[in-house]
Amino acid sequence: FELERLGVHDSVEAVFPPAELADFLSELPADVTVVGDDEITDCDAIVTLEHRDAFLECSWIHSIQAGVDRFPFDEFEEHGVTLTNSTGIHDRTVGETVAGYLLAFSRRLHDHVADQQDRRWERPEWDEAFTLPGTTACVVGTGTLGTGVADVLGALGVRVIGVRRSGEPVPGFEEVYASDDLHEAIAEADFVVVTLPLTDETHHRFDADAFDAMAEDAYFVNVGRGSVVDEPALIDALEADALAGAALDVFETEPLPEESPLWEMDEVIVTPHCAAYTRDYFRDVGEIVRENVDRLGDDEQFYNQVV
Ligand code: NAD
Repeated sequence: FELERLGVHDSVEAVFPPAELADFLSELPADVTVVGDDEITDCDAIVTLEHRDAFLECSWIHSIQAGVDRFPFDEFEEHGVTLTNSTGIHDRTVGETVAGYLLAFSRRLHDHVADQQDRRWERPEWDEAFTLPGTTACVVGTGTLGTGVADVLGALGVRVIGVRRSGEPVPGFEEVYASDDLHEAIAEADFVVVTLPLTDETHHRFDADAFDAMAEDAYFVNVGRGSVVDEPALIDALEADALAGAALDVFETEPLPEESPLWEMDEVIVTPHCAAYTRDYFRDVGEIVRENVDRLGDDEQFYNQVV
């Protein structure tokens, strides 16, 4: 298709100002503008956070997120719409966020921040604080997020093992288990970090049996997608002290409903699906869009094509 007009959908506003991205892309050989729902069908291509039915009338949709589980793949295919995503850019951001969770737990920072709200001077119990070298993190999913997490945690002295479908080795992981051996892999970890996409296969992969398989003093971290976890089973495990705690960036329902017990738990860190946030986000996404506009011009296969 001929790219005449590329729209930056205003839903990206939840992550960065749409105008920053439109400005970054202003040199493209196409008209680039910020668009609302009314103007979608005037565009050949859209860069977006959310899905809209009107996208089926465009030729190319680019997701500013790596996860694309909210898009109807079959309908895109039927209507000849190409879908690309933003995987490949969130390694360092999410890696540092996960390192932050682990350091909060090991150095008890989340307790101190909570105490500070009440002007309370309270030191940890003598055996509560620890250091990361000598601990093991099991990272489930060894893609961009998983390797970024392994890289940052490795630099902090954490022993990193991984789980991927094939079980084949991956640089940065001391050992890699096959998905079929998930429970065996997570049993030996002090931290289990989920970096999986949501698919039919990964839906509720972390259920009551998985939490049973984890050590009672282990922490659970999810930066993949909420529904990879059976959230009520996680809450049960936390309430039963079958886990030490959890750091969660993604949830089965977002925003996390006010009545969720997760908000109130001392050993749970809740972040609002922002593990990949950075002020450079629009640039990182913009580079992928530029690359694909070049490829379109050269009649080459798109980078990060999903559908
Ligand atoms: P990616 O495509 O680079 O990596 C995904 C990895 O998961 C791949 O290696 C793939 O082979 C593996 N995988 C898929 N199904 C699997 C299964 N059943 N068992 C084991 N491994 C499996 O994508 P990414 O950039 O690393 O992102 C991964 C996911 O994380 C995204 O789909 C998105 O849902 C989520 N994400 C969340 C945030 C956040 O802000 N919290 C940011 C970026 C991505």
